[in-house]
Amino acid sequence: MRVAIVGAGFGGLCMAVHLARKGIPHVVFEKGDGVGGTWRDNTYPGAGCDIPSHLYSFSFEPWCDWSRRYPGQPEILAYLEMVAARHRVRPRFGTEVTELAHDGSGWLVVTPGGVERFDVVVTAVGQLNRPRVPEIPGAETFRGEAFHSARWGSRDLAGKRVAVVGTGSSAAQLVPSLAGTARQVDVYQRTPSWVLPKADGAFSPLTRAVFRRVPGAHRLYREWQFAYLENTVFPALVEGWSTGLIRRAGLAHLRSQVADPGLRRRLTPGYPPGCKRIVLDSRFYPALTRHDVELITDPITRIVPEGVETPAGVRQAEVIVYATGFHTTEFLLPMTVTGTCGRDLREQWRDGAEAYLGMAAPGFPNLFFLYGPNTNLGHNSIVHMLEAQVGYVMRCLHLIARRGRMEVTEAAMSAYTTALNRALAATVWNQGCRSWYKTEAGRITNNWPRSARDYRRLTRRPRPGAYNFGAGR
Ligand code: NAP
Repeated sequence: MRVAIVGAGFGGLCMAVHLARKGIPHVVFEKGDGVGGTWRDNTYPGAGCDIPSHLYSFSFEPWCDWSRRYPGQPEILAYLEMVAARHRVRPRFGTEVTELAHDGSGWLVVTPGGVERFDVVVTAVGQLNRPRVPEIPGAETFRGEAFHSARWGSRDLAGKRVAVVGTGSSAAQLVPSLAGTARQVDVYQRTPSWVLPKADGAFSPLTRAVFRRVPGAHRLYREWQFAYLENTVFPALVEGWSTGLIRRAGLAHLRSQVADPGLRRRLTPGYPPGCKRIVLDSRFYPALTRHDVELITDPITRIVPEGVETPAGVRQAEVIVYATGFHTTEFLLPMTVTGTCGRDLREQWRDGAEAYLGMAAPGFPNLFFLYGPNTNLGHNSIVHMLEAQVGYVMRCLHLIARRGRMEVTEAAMSAYTTALNRALAATVWNQGCRSWYKTEAGRITNNWPRSARDYRRLTRRPRPGAYNFGAGR
Protein backbone atom coordinates (compact mmCIF):
# COMPACT_ATOMS: atom_id res chain seq x y z
CA MET A 1 0.00 0.00 0.00
CA ARG A 2 1.30 3.48 -0.88
CA VAL A 3 0.06 6.56 0.89
CA ALA A 4 0.31 10.20 -0.20
CA ILE A 5 0.28 12.88 2.47
CA VAL A 6 -0.41 16.46 1.44
CA GLY A 7 1.22 18.97 3.80
CA ALA A 8 4.09 18.85 6.28
CA GLY A 9 2.69 20.79 9.22
CA PHE A 10 1.67 19.24 12.53
CA GLY A 11 -0.84 16.88 10.83
CA GLY A 12 1.32 15.71 7.93
CA LEU A 13 4.32 15.08 10.17
CA CYS A 14 2.24 13.11 12.66
CA MET A 15 0.84 10.93 9.85
CA ALA A 16 4.27 10.35 8.33
CA VAL A 17 5.80 9.29 11.66
CA HIS A 18 3.04 6.74 12.26
CA LEU A 19 3.26 5.33 8.73
CA ALA A 20 7.04 5.06 9.01
CA ARG A 21 6.73 3.18 12.29
CA LYS A 22 4.58 0.57 10.56
CA GLY A 23 6.84 0.47 7.52
CA ILE A 24 4.09 1.69 5.18
CA PRO A 25 5.55 3.40 2.09
CA HIS A 26 4.49 7.03 1.77
CA VAL A 27 5.38 10.36 0.22
CA VAL A 28 4.84 13.73 1.90
CA PHE A 29 4.12 16.50 -0.59
CA GLU A 30 4.81 20.00 0.70
CA LYS A 31 4.36 23.17 -1.32
CA GLY A 32 6.66 25.22 0.92
CA ASP A 33 10.39 24.89 1.40
CA GLY A 34 10.32 23.49 4.93
CA VAL A 35 8.18 21.67 7.47
CA GLY A 36 5.95 23.49 9.95
CA GLY A 37 2.89 24.65 7.98
CA THR A 38 1.34 27.61 9.74
CA TRP A 39 4.35 27.80 12.06
CA ARG A 40 6.64 28.25 9.07
CA ASP A 41 4.36 30.86 7.48
CA ASN A 42 3.59 33.12 10.44
CA THR A 43 6.78 34.97 11.26
CA TYR A 44 5.28 38.31 12.28
CA PRO A 45 6.78 39.80 15.45
CA GLY A 46 5.14 38.39 18.55
CA ALA A 47 3.74 35.27 16.80
CA GLY A 48 3.08 32.51 19.26
CA CYS A 49 0.55 30.00 20.47
CA ASP A 50 -2.36 30.43 22.87
CA ILE A 51 -2.37 26.78 23.91
CA PRO A 52 0.19 25.76 26.55
CA SER A 53 3.28 24.36 24.86
CA HIS A 54 3.35 21.08 26.73
CA LEU A 55 -0.08 20.36 25.32
CA TYR A 56 0.72 21.81 21.93
CA SER A 57 3.15 19.02 21.14
CA PHE A 58 2.93 15.35 20.22
CA SER A 59 2.30 12.74 22.91
CA PHE A 60 4.79 10.46 21.14
CA GLU A 61 7.47 13.16 21.13
CA PRO A 62 7.13 14.93 24.47
CA TRP A 63 9.37 17.93 24.93
CA CYS A 64 10.32 18.80 28.49
CA ASP A 65 12.46 21.80 27.62
CA TRP A 66 9.93 24.36 26.42
CA SER A 67 11.33 27.70 27.55
CA ARG A 68 7.96 29.07 28.60
CA ARG A 69 4.32 28.25 29.01
CA TYR A 70 3.33 29.89 25.71
CA PRO A 71 6.42 29.82 23.48
CA GLY A 72 6.88 31.88 20.38
CA GLN A 73 6.80 30.77 16.75
CA PRO A 74 10.57 30.13 16.42
CA GLU A 75 10.50 27.61 19.26
CA ILE A 76 7.43 25.78 17.92
CA LEU A 77 8.95 25.64 14.45
CA ALA A 78 12.23 24.33 15.91
CA TYR A 79 10.24 21.61 17.72
CA LEU A 80 8.58 20.52 14.46
CA GLU A 81 11.91 20.52 12.64
CA MET A 82 13.36 18.40 15.43
CA VAL A 83 10.46 15.91 15.13
CA ALA A 84 10.93 15.70 11.36
CA ALA A 85 14.69 15.17 11.69
CA ARG A 86 14.41 12.63 14.48
CA HIS A 87 11.86 10.54 12.58
CA ARG A 88 13.55 11.06 9.22
CA VAL A 89 10.52 12.64 7.59
CA ARG A 90 11.77 13.97 4.27
CA PRO A 91 8.98 15.70 2.39
CA ARG A 92 9.18 16.63 -1.24
CA PHE A 93 9.48 20.36 -0.77
CA GLY A 94 8.35 22.89 -3.31
CA THR A 95 5.82 20.38 -4.64
CA GLU A 96 2.26 21.66 -4.61
CA VAL A 97 -0.48 19.12 -5.17
CA THR A 98 -2.89 20.74 -7.59
CA GLU A 99 -5.27 17.87 -8.16
CA LEU A 100 -6.38 14.55 -6.69
CA ALA A 101 -8.37 12.26 -8.94
CA HIS A 102 -9.67 8.75 -8.37
CA ASP A 103 -9.48 6.72 -11.56
CA GLY A 104 -11.47 3.72 -10.32
CA SER A 105 -8.49 1.83 -9.01
CA GLY A 106 -6.49 4.38 -7.08
CA TRP A 107 -5.67 8.03 -6.51
CA LEU A 108 -3.74 10.06 -9.02
CA VAL A 109 -1.80 12.82 -7.31
CA VAL A 110 -1.06 15.66 -9.69
CA THR A 111 1.78 18.12 -9.10
CA PRO A 112 3.50 20.49 -11.52
CA GLY A 113 6.17 17.78 -11.82
CA GLY A 114 3.84 15.00 -12.98
CA VAL A 115 1.28 12.43 -11.91
CA GLU A 116 1.78 9.63 -9.40
CA ARG A 117 -0.52 6.85 -8.27
CA PHE A 118 -1.31 6.05 -4.64
CA ASP A 119 -3.73 3.71 -2.88
CA VAL A 120 -4.60 6.15 -0.12
CA VAL A 121 -4.40 9.94 0.22
CA VAL A 122 -4.31 11.86 3.49
CA THR A 123 -4.68 15.62 3.27
CA ALA A 124 -3.15 17.70 6.05
CA VAL A 125 -3.38 21.20 4.65
CA GLY A 126 -4.67 23.00 7.74
CA GLN A 127 -7.53 25.45 8.05
CA LEU A 128 -5.48 28.62 8.35
CA ASN A 129 -3.09 28.48 5.44
CA ARG A 130 -4.58 30.72 2.75
CA PRO A 131 -4.45 34.39 3.73
CA ARG A 132 -7.62 36.38 3.21
CA VAL A 133 -7.06 39.95 2.12
CA PRO A 134 -10.34 41.89 1.92
CA GLU A 135 -11.25 43.67 -1.26
CA ILE A 136 -11.19 47.29 -0.15
CA PRO A 137 -11.80 49.90 -2.86
CA GLY A 138 -8.61 51.64 -3.91
CA ALA A 139 -6.28 49.03 -2.36
CA GLU A 140 -4.28 48.82 -5.58
CA THR A 141 -3.57 52.57 -5.50
CA PHE A 142 -1.68 52.45 -2.18
CA ARG A 143 1.81 53.89 -2.58
CA GLY A 144 3.40 52.04 0.35
CA GLU A 145 3.83 48.38 1.06
CA ALA A 146 0.79 46.22 1.89
CA PHE A 147 0.87 42.58 2.93
CA HIS A 148 -0.92 39.93 5.00
CA SER A 149 0.23 39.09 8.53
CA ALA A 150 1.06 35.52 7.45
CA ARG A 151 3.39 36.87 4.74
CA TRP A 152 5.55 38.98 7.02
CA GLY A 153 8.81 37.29 6.04
CA SER A 154 11.64 39.08 7.79
CA ARG A 155 10.48 42.68 7.42
CA ASP A 156 11.48 45.32 9.91
CA LEU A 157 8.95 48.15 10.28
CA ALA A 158 11.00 50.27 12.66
CA GLY A 159 10.28 53.97 12.24
CA LYS A 160 7.33 53.45 9.86
CA ARG A 161 3.74 54.62 10.04
CA VAL A 162 1.82 51.36 10.03
CA ALA A 163 -1.88 50.63 9.60
CA VAL A 164 -3.00 47.25 10.96
CA VAL A 165 -6.39 46.04 9.74
CA GLY A 166 -8.12 43.57 12.07
CA THR A 167 -8.18 42.82 15.78
CA GLY A 168 -8.12 39.00 15.94
CA SER A 169 -5.37 36.88 17.52
CA SER A 170 -2.75 37.79 14.89
CA ALA A 171 -3.26 41.55 15.28
CA ALA A 172 -3.36 41.24 19.07
CA GLN A 173 0.08 39.68 18.97
CA LEU A 174 1.76 41.86 16.39
CA VAL A 175 0.45 45.27 17.52
CA PRO A 176 2.26 45.22 20.91
CA SER A 177 5.46 44.12 19.19
CA LEU A 178 5.22 46.95 16.65
CA ALA A 179 4.31 49.58 19.21
CA GLY A 180 7.36 51.52 20.25
CA THR A 181 9.32 50.31 17.21
CA ALA A 182 7.13 51.73 14.50
CA ARG A 183 6.68 55.51 14.46
CA GLN A 184 2.90 55.20 14.64
CA VAL A 185 0.52 52.24 14.65
CA ASP A 186 -3.13 52.69 13.63
CA VAL A 187 -5.30 49.70 14.47
CA TYR A 188 -8.48 49.41 12.42
CA GLN A 189 -11.11 47.49 14.36
CA ARG A 190 -14.36 46.31 12.84
CA THR A 191 -15.48 44.12 15.76
CA PRO A 192 -13.83 43.99 19.18
CA SER A 193 -12.51 40.64 20.42
CA TRP A 194 -12.97 39.18 23.86
CA VAL A 195 -9.50 39.26 25.38
CA LEU A 196 -8.39 37.22 28.38
CA PRO A 197 -5.08 37.58 30.20
CA LYS A 198 -2.31 35.24 29.12
CA ALA A 199 -0.70 33.65 32.17
CA ASP A 200 2.63 33.27 30.44
CA GLY A 201 5.97 32.74 32.13
CA ALA A 202 9.33 31.06 31.71
CA PHE A 203 9.91 27.56 33.07
CA SER A 204 12.76 27.57 35.58
CA PRO A 205 15.68 25.16 35.11
CA LEU A 206 14.37 23.29 38.16
CA THR A 207 10.88 22.82 36.67
CA ARG A 208 12.39 21.60 33.43
CA ALA A 209 14.61 19.17 35.32
CA VAL A 210 11.56 17.85 37.19
CA PHE A 211 9.74 17.30 33.87
CA ARG A 212 12.78 15.45 32.53
CA ARG A 213 13.74 13.38 35.54
CA VAL A 214 10.73 12.71 37.77
CA PRO A 215 8.84 9.76 36.31
CA GLY A 216 5.31 10.72 35.32
CA ALA A 217 5.71 14.43 36.19
CA HIS A 218 5.58 15.65 32.61
CA ARG A 219 2.66 13.42 31.70
CA LEU A 220 0.76 14.52 34.77
CA TYR A 221 1.36 18.19 33.96
CA ARG A 222 0.06 17.64 30.41
CA GLU A 223 -3.01 15.86 31.67
CA TRP A 224 -3.72 18.59 34.16
CA GLN A 225 -3.54 21.24 31.40
CA PHE A 226 -5.81 19.19 29.20
CA ALA A 227 -8.37 18.63 31.97
CA TYR A 228 -8.36 22.34 32.85
CA LEU A 229 -9.20 23.37 29.28
CA GLU A 230 -11.84 20.66 28.94
CA ASN A 231 -13.54 21.36 32.25
CA THR A 232 -13.24 25.13 32.49
CA VAL A 233 -13.07 26.65 29.02
CA PHE A 234 -15.17 24.18 27.02
CA PRO A 235 -18.34 24.63 29.14
CA ALA A 236 -18.32 28.34 28.28
CA LEU A 237 -18.67 27.44 24.59
CA VAL A 238 -21.87 25.49 25.22
CA GLU A 239 -23.33 27.90 27.76
CA GLY A 240 -22.27 25.77 30.67
CA TRP A 241 -21.17 26.73 34.16
CA SER A 242 -18.19 28.89 33.15
CA THR A 243 -19.99 31.20 30.70
CA GLY A 244 -20.43 33.98 33.25
CA LEU A 245 -16.96 33.40 34.66
CA ILE A 246 -15.26 33.93 31.29
CA ARG A 247 -17.35 37.04 30.60
CA ARG A 248 -16.47 38.52 34.00
CA ALA A 249 -12.79 37.66 33.51
CA GLY A 250 -12.79 39.39 30.10
CA LEU A 251 -14.48 42.54 31.42
CA ALA A 252 -12.20 42.65 34.47
CA HIS A 253 -9.15 42.31 32.22
CA LEU A 254 -10.36 45.21 30.09
CA ARG A 255 -11.09 47.35 33.18
CA SER A 256 -7.72 46.64 34.72
CA GLN A 257 -5.76 47.47 31.58
CA VAL A 258 -7.70 50.34 30.00
CA ALA A 259 -8.45 53.34 32.20
CA ASP A 260 -10.17 55.50 29.56
CA PRO A 261 -13.93 54.74 29.63
CA GLY A 262 -14.38 55.82 26.00
CA LEU A 263 -11.69 53.44 24.76
CA ARG A 264 -13.06 50.73 27.02
CA ARG A 265 -16.52 51.12 25.53
CA ARG A 266 -15.14 50.76 22.02
CA LEU A 267 -13.29 47.60 23.05
CA THR A 268 -16.28 45.94 24.71
CA PRO A 269 -17.69 43.14 22.55
CA GLY A 270 -21.41 43.00 21.93
CA TYR A 271 -21.61 39.22 21.56
CA PRO A 272 -20.94 36.37 24.00
CA PRO A 273 -17.34 35.31 24.69
CA GLY A 274 -16.23 32.36 22.59
CA CYS A 275 -18.52 33.21 19.64
CA LYS A 276 -15.34 34.34 17.91
CA ARG A 277 -12.04 32.85 18.97
CA ILE A 278 -11.13 34.39 22.32
CA VAL A 279 -7.86 36.30 22.20
CA LEU A 280 -5.43 35.35 24.94
CA ASP A 281 -3.11 38.27 25.43
CA SER A 282 -1.91 40.55 28.19
CA ARG A 283 -0.06 43.01 25.95
CA PHE A 284 -2.74 44.04 23.47
CA TYR A 285 -4.81 46.43 25.62
CA PRO A 286 -1.78 48.20 27.11
CA ALA A 287 -0.43 48.72 23.57
CA LEU A 288 -3.71 50.38 22.57
CA THR A 289 -3.34 52.93 25.37
CA ARG A 290 0.04 54.20 24.12
CA HIS A 291 0.37 57.68 22.65
CA ASP A 292 1.79 56.26 19.40
CA VAL A 293 -1.00 53.71 18.89
CA GLU A 294 -4.50 54.66 17.81
CA LEU A 295 -7.58 52.44 17.76
CA ILE A 296 -9.81 53.40 14.87
CA THR A 297 -13.35 52.11 14.90
CA ASP A 298 -14.72 54.14 12.00
CA PRO A 299 -15.22 51.81 9.04
CA ILE A 300 -12.62 51.83 6.29
CA THR A 301 -14.21 53.34 3.21
CA ARG A 302 -11.23 53.32 0.87
CA ILE A 303 -7.52 52.88 0.59
CA VAL A 304 -5.90 55.92 -0.99
CA PRO A 305 -2.31 56.30 -2.24
CA GLU A 306 -1.18 57.90 1.02
CA GLY A 307 -3.10 55.81 3.54
CA VAL A 308 -6.49 54.68 4.80
CA GLU A 309 -9.72 56.61 4.49
CA THR A 310 -12.65 56.49 6.92
CA PRO A 311 -15.62 58.87 7.22
CA ALA A 312 -13.40 60.89 9.62
CA GLY A 313 -10.76 61.50 6.93
CA VAL A 314 -7.51 60.03 5.66
CA ARG A 315 -4.82 58.74 8.01
CA GLN A 316 -1.35 58.50 6.54
CA ALA A 317 0.34 55.11 6.35
CA GLU A 318 3.56 53.84 4.83
CA VAL A 319 2.68 50.19 5.42
CA ILE A 320 -0.65 48.34 5.65
CA VAL A 321 -0.67 45.00 7.44
CA TYR A 322 -3.76 42.94 6.75
CA ALA A 323 -4.30 40.84 9.89
CA THR A 324 -7.59 39.86 8.34
CA GLY A 325 -7.57 36.10 8.75
CA PHE A 326 -7.74 33.21 6.33
CA HIS A 327 -9.96 31.45 3.80
CA THR A 328 -11.05 28.95 6.40
CA THR A 329 -14.29 27.51 5.09
CA GLU A 330 -13.02 26.56 1.63
CA PHE A 331 -11.34 23.36 2.70
CA LEU A 332 -8.68 21.96 0.36
CA LEU A 333 -8.99 24.78 -2.16
CA PRO A 334 -7.36 25.47 -4.58
CA MET A 335 -6.82 21.72 -5.03
CA THR A 336 -9.28 19.99 -7.37
CA VAL A 337 -10.53 16.72 -5.90
CA THR A 338 -12.43 14.28 -8.08
CA GLY A 339 -13.79 11.07 -6.60
CA THR A 340 -15.37 8.01 -8.12
CA CYS A 341 -17.84 8.56 -10.98
CA GLY A 342 -16.38 12.02 -11.53
CA ARG A 343 -17.71 13.47 -8.23
CA ASP A 344 -16.31 16.92 -7.60
CA LEU A 345 -15.62 17.64 -3.93
CA ARG A 346 -15.99 21.39 -4.42
CA GLU A 347 -19.45 20.79 -5.85
CA GLN A 348 -20.33 18.36 -3.04
CA TRP A 349 -19.30 21.01 -0.49
CA ARG A 350 -21.05 23.88 -2.28
CA ASP A 351 -23.26 24.66 0.75
CA GLY A 352 -20.48 24.06 3.27
CA ALA A 353 -17.87 21.38 3.80
CA GLU A 354 -18.84 18.27 5.74
CA ALA A 355 -17.06 15.03 6.45
CA TYR A 356 -17.75 11.99 8.57
CA LEU A 357 -15.84 12.58 11.82
CA GLY A 358 -14.20 15.39 9.85
CA MET A 359 -12.18 12.79 7.95
CA ALA A 360 -14.12 11.05 5.17
CA ALA A 361 -16.62 11.98 2.46
CA PRO A 362 -18.98 9.72 0.46
CA GLY A 363 -17.79 9.26 -3.10
CA PHE A 364 -14.14 9.64 -2.12
CA PRO A 365 -12.83 6.21 -1.10
CA ASN A 366 -9.49 5.93 0.69
CA LEU A 367 -9.28 9.70 1.07
CA PHE A 368 -8.85 11.03 4.60
CA PHE A 369 -8.73 14.62 5.82
CA LEU A 370 -6.72 15.66 8.86
CA TYR A 371 -8.03 18.85 10.55
CA GLY A 372 -10.95 18.62 8.14
CA PRO A 373 -14.45 20.06 8.48
CA ASN A 374 -15.74 20.56 12.05
CA THR A 375 -12.59 19.42 13.81
CA ASN A 376 -11.24 22.76 14.96
CA LEU A 377 -11.37 23.49 18.69
CA GLY A 378 -12.15 26.76 20.40
CA HIS A 379 -10.70 25.62 23.71
CA ASN A 380 -8.02 22.95 23.52
CA SER A 381 -5.01 21.70 21.59
CA ILE A 382 -5.49 20.82 17.94
CA VAL A 383 -2.60 18.40 18.30
CA HIS A 384 -4.87 16.21 20.41
CA MET A 385 -7.41 16.12 17.56
CA LEU A 386 -4.71 15.38 14.98
CA GLU A 387 -3.34 12.47 16.98
CA ALA A 388 -6.87 11.04 17.34
CA GLN A 389 -7.32 11.36 13.57
CA VAL A 390 -3.98 9.80 12.71
CA GLY A 391 -4.75 6.85 15.02
CA TYR A 392 -8.11 6.46 13.27
CA VAL A 393 -6.57 6.58 9.79
CA MET A 394 -3.99 3.95 10.81
CA ARG A 395 -6.83 1.62 11.82
CA CYS A 396 -8.60 2.36 8.53
CA LEU A 397 -5.45 1.35 6.64
CA HIS A 398 -5.54 -1.92 8.50
CA LEU A 399 -9.16 -2.41 7.40
CA ILE A 400 -8.32 -1.48 3.81
CA ALA A 401 -5.53 -4.07 3.78
CA ARG A 402 -8.00 -6.72 4.99
CA ARG A 403 -11.26 -5.77 3.30
CA GLY A 404 -10.36 -3.56 0.36
CA ARG A 405 -11.07 0.03 -0.55
CA MET A 406 -13.25 1.86 1.98
CA GLU A 407 -15.78 4.61 1.46
CA VAL A 408 -18.08 6.16 4.03
CA THR A 409 -21.76 5.52 3.26
CA GLU A 410 -24.25 8.30 2.53
CA ALA A 411 -26.37 7.02 5.44
CA ALA A 412 -23.51 7.27 7.94
CA MET A 413 -22.62 10.74 6.65
CA SER A 414 -26.17 11.99 6.93
CA ALA A 415 -26.74 10.55 10.44
CA TYR A 416 -23.45 12.10 11.53
CA THR A 417 -24.36 15.51 10.10
CA THR A 418 -27.74 15.47 11.85
CA ALA A 419 -26.12 14.74 15.22
CA LEU A 420 -23.38 17.30 14.58
CA ASN A 421 -25.88 20.04 13.71
CA ARG A 422 -27.85 19.30 16.86
CA ALA A 423 -24.70 19.74 18.94
CA LEU A 424 -23.64 22.87 17.01
CA ALA A 425 -27.03 24.48 17.68
CA ALA A 426 -26.25 24.44 21.40
CA THR A 427 -22.95 26.31 21.03
CA VAL A 428 -22.07 29.95 21.38
CA TRP A 429 -20.73 30.14 17.81
CA ASN A 430 -24.08 30.98 16.26
CA GLN A 431 -24.96 33.73 18.71
CA GLY A 432 -24.68 36.98 16.86
CA CYS A 433 -21.14 37.24 15.59
CA ARG A 434 -19.24 36.84 12.36
CA SER A 435 -16.25 34.49 12.62
CA TRP A 436 -13.88 32.35 10.66
CA TYR A 437 -15.72 29.31 12.02
CA LYS A 438 -18.59 29.68 9.56
CA THR A 439 -19.53 30.32 5.95
CA GLU A 440 -20.98 33.58 4.69
CA ALA A 441 -24.40 31.92 4.95
CA GLY A 442 -23.78 31.17 8.63
CA ARG A 443 -23.14 27.42 8.50
CA ILE A 444 -20.51 26.39 11.06
CA THR A 445 -18.08 24.28 9.07
CA ASN A 446 -14.94 24.49 11.15
CA ASN A 447 -15.60 23.70 14.78
CA TRP A 448 -16.12 20.53 16.73
CA PRO A 449 -19.05 21.17 19.08
CA ARG A 450 -18.22 18.66 21.79
CA SER A 451 -15.28 18.08 24.07
CA ALA A 452 -11.89 16.98 22.76
CA ARG A 453 -12.21 13.95 24.99
CA ASP A 454 -15.47 13.00 23.22
CA TYR A 455 -13.78 13.26 19.85
CA ARG A 456 -11.02 10.93 20.97
CA ARG A 457 -13.64 8.45 22.17
CA LEU A 458 -15.65 8.58 18.94
CA THR A 459 -12.57 8.06 16.80
CA ARG A 460 -11.04 5.27 18.84
CA ARG A 461 -11.83 2.75 16.12
CA PRO A 462 -13.65 2.87 12.77
CA ARG A 463 -17.15 1.42 12.73
CA PRO A 464 -17.09 -0.94 9.72
CA GLY A 465 -20.88 -0.49 9.32
CA ALA A 466 -20.29 3.15 8.40
CA TYR A 467 -18.28 2.17 5.33
CA ASN A 468 -18.67 0.29 2.09
CA PHE A 469 -15.73 -1.88 1.16
CA GLY A 470 -14.81 -2.50 -2.46
CA ALA A 471 -12.64 -4.77 -4.50
CA GLY A 472 -8.94 -3.88 -4.53
CA ARG A 473 -7.37 -1.17 -2.47
P1 NAP B 1 -9.21 36.32 12.45
O1 NAP B 1 -9.40 35.81 13.81
O2 NAP B 1 -10.07 35.78 11.37
O3 NAP B 1 -9.34 37.90 12.54
C1 NAP B 1 -9.43 38.68 11.40
C2 NAP B 1 -9.63 40.12 11.81
O4 NAP B 1 -9.66 40.92 10.64
C3 NAP B 1 -10.97 40.36 12.52
O5 NAP B 1 -10.79 41.30 13.52
C4 NAP B 1 -11.85 40.88 11.40
O6 NAP B 1 -12.92 41.67 11.82
C5 NAP B 1 -10.85 41.70 10.63
N1 NAP B 1 -11.27 41.95 9.27
C6 NAP B 1 -11.47 41.06 8.28
N2 NAP B 1 -11.85 41.68 7.16
C7 NAP B 1 -11.90 43.00 7.46
C8 NAP B 1 -12.25 44.16 6.73
N3 NAP B 1 -12.63 44.08 5.46
N4 NAP B 1 -12.19 45.36 7.36
C9 NAP B 1 -11.83 45.44 8.64
N5 NAP B 1 -11.49 44.38 9.39
C10 NAP B 1 -11.53 43.18 8.81
O7 NAP B 1 -7.70 36.11 11.94
P2 NAP B 1 -6.35 35.97 12.79
O8 NAP B 1 -6.23 37.04 13.77
O9 NAP B 1 -5.26 35.80 11.79
O10 NAP B 1 -6.53 34.64 13.58
C11 NAP B 1 -7.03 33.47 12.95
C12 NAP B 1 -6.88 32.31 13.88
O11 NAP B 1 -5.56 31.86 13.84
C13 NAP B 1 -7.14 32.59 15.33
O12 NAP B 1 -8.48 32.65 15.68
C14 NAP B 1 -6.41 31.46 15.99
O13 NAP B 1 -7.16 30.28 15.95
C15 NAP B 1 -5.20 31.34 15.09
N6 NAP B 1 -4.14 32.18 15.65
C16 NAP B 1 -3.74 31.91 16.90
C17 NAP B 1 -2.81 32.69 17.49
C18 NAP B 1 -2.43 32.38 18.88
O14 NAP B 1 -2.26 31.23 19.18
N7 NAP B 1 -2.34 33.33 19.75
C19 NAP B 1 -2.22 33.74 16.81
C20 NAP B 1 -2.62 33.98 15.53
C21 NAP B 1 -3.59 33.20 14.95
P3 NAP B 1 -14.37 41.01 12.11
O15 NAP B 1 -14.20 40.33 13.44
O16 NAP B 1 -15.30 42.15 12.12
O17 NAP B 1 -14.64 40.03 11.01
